[in-house]
Amino acid sequence: MTRVLRTRVELSQALAAVERPVGLVPTMGWLHEGHRSLLRRARGADATTVVTIFVNPRQFNQASDYTRYPRDEGRDLAICAEEGADLIWAPSVDEVYVPGFDTTVSVGAVAEPLEGAARPGHFEGVATVVAILFGLVRAEHAYFGQKDAQQVMVIRRMALDLALPTEVVACPTVREPDGLALSSRNVHLAPPERAAAPILHAALLAGRAAWERGERSAKALRSEMQRVLATEPMARPDYVSCADAETLRELDRVDGPCLLSLAVWLGATRLIDNELLP
Ligand code: AMP
Repeated sequence: MTRVLRTRVELSQALAAVERPVGLVPTMGWLHEGHRSLLRRARGADATTVVTIFVNPRQFNQASDYTRYPRDEGRDLAICAEEGADLIWAPSVDEVYVPGFDTTVSVGAVAEPLEGAARPGHFEGVATVVAILFGLVRAEHAYFGQKDAQQVMVIRRMALDLALPTEVVACPTVREPDGLALSSRNVHLAPPERAAAPILHAALLAGRAAWERGERSAKALRSEMQRVLATEPMARPDYVSCADAETLRELDRVDGPCLLSLAVWLGATRLIDNELLP
């Protein structure tokens, strides 16, 4: 039986009676196969699965991105039930940010480059809401997608630094057959943009292929990804990165684990994707 809860109090009361371990899957709704894969992973490992559905205003650096973010709670609840989630917390904004709320969680260096630089305030919003969710749910495990690789790193850092008892589990990126990473924002793509969107994954795979051929110059790997992106006239790259997989500092030479990542505009929609080397 899936139960839908709205308030902090309802959630806490429901959690007091559940079997442990508890697995938490935080989402902003408009659920797709990527979210389903996190739910299944939680179901496989934890006795109780908690899904949160909350479009977090604090993590949007553009008001228009927040207002046009897709929402369909009825459909999301049906998907959670189908996947056997036990508890769904779908709160209002005021229930998350209680009256007088005045705390911001700000993670340091790992939150600065890439998405942090492109979207000021984004990771403060993410870290703050995830800290609230971790505090409320006190799950043994929380599941996040590798699709948002920097987000996983920011949350790991936060959980470690603040001694939060929830283990952060990263799960593989789920893709469409043509390679496009599933994302709630894909719904905004007009047909020609959708047709162009697999170029992100193609560019990352070209970067990986160059690395597999022995290329170790980070500049050369970035150029290879840029070259592939440039074959698609609709794609406007925001950044193309080849960074240390631990620190996210841009590399000169690739001697160890490395994150290839990119952000690309297609019309008014900004997509991100990444590939971890090796
Ligand atoms: P969102 O609802 O977009 O905030 O995403 C909620 C969670 O689902 C985050 O941990 C995302 O990284 C994860 N997620 C989103 N898209 C995918 C995907 N294509 N594959 C795997 N996980 C994903």
